[in-house]
Amino acid sequence: MTEPLHLHSPLLRAAPGLFSHPEVWLKMDALQPSGSFKLRGVGLLVQRAADDGATAIVCASGGNAGFAAAWAAQALGLQATIVLPLSSSAAVAEKIAARGAEVLRHGAVWDEAHAYAVGLAQQRGAAYVHPFDHPLLWQGHASLIDEVVAEGLDFDAVITAVGGGGLLCGIVQGLHRNGLGHVPVIAVETLGADSLSQSIKAGVAVTLPAIRSIATSLGARRVADEALRLAQTHPTLSLTVSDDQAMAACIRFADGMRVLVEPACGAALAAVDAYPEILSRFKRPLVEVCGGMAVSLATLGAWSAQS
Ligand SMILES: *Cc1c(COP(=O)(O)O)cnc(C)c1O
Repeated sequence: MTEPLHLHSPLLRAAPGLFSHPEVWLKMDALQPSGSFKLRGVGLLVQRAADDGATAIVCASGGNAGFAAAWAAQALGLQATIVLPLSSSAAVAEKIAARGAEVLRHGAVWDEAHAYAVGLAQQRGAAYVHPFDHPLLWQGHASLIDEVVAEGLDFDAVITAVGGGGLLCGIVQGLHRNGLGHVPVIAVETLGADSLSQSIKAGVAVTLPAIRSIATSLGARRVADEALRLAQTHPTLSLTVSDDQAMAACIRFADGMRVLVEPACGAALAAVDAYPEILSRFKRPLVEVCGGMAVSLATLGAWSAQS
């Protein structure tokens, strides 16, 4: 087994006063070299593709998965093509291109970019890197729980943001493989990107007609089937917060911990104070600080001015 591409990220106790809950722990995946947890699973997928003889990869992503794929491909000497939907910002496209990847733009939304990218990968004989729906990806994401367990923290809940549900699948897998199948997961989405929450209520996978949230990294119109299955079988609490709550949490986090994160990550942070009666059931909740590269002092300042 070759060395993983991601780092063993710091596990920090939240600064006093950052949350109303007295003992919140933070798994700082915002500090991964790709700026988000995505390098865990995507790194493993790209590594495996290289081991299997691939020389090129294709990934459709609005941001963090694409950046992680470009990062991993560059580290391993593979050619990367990242397909961004037209909705992605120029700044994100530039950061991905700076990692040596070919950046293509296709489709108004991620689903269209994805369909195009799958065809392109087939045509070129390249490996397709799915941003959230692949067993190897989940296996890679699960490493974050292994690390926390190895450090000996006795946490009793995991709070995570949910987009397409790859991170959720990884966390649940990580809990089970460490004998922690009883530890609940608090799955948080922003309103407008709440595909898991709506699917749990409906009892079947729901496809949202559109994404209406600033947390674009949570913008999967439909979650992976496995994410819904796990949410229905593993102890899971599905919660939603508003965009304003997520943005306010990013600003509080920047001030309190001196680290910038996207609203996607702010959603998980916001849930701690938005649902005090739920959080008070737990002594030592762990927040997966998933991070995100599409944030800057400028964007954070603009939100701060709005709120
Ligand atoms: C991808 C991503 C998510 C959501 O992960 P899923 O596996 O799609 O559920 C949350 N936050 C950030 C910063 C992300 O990049």
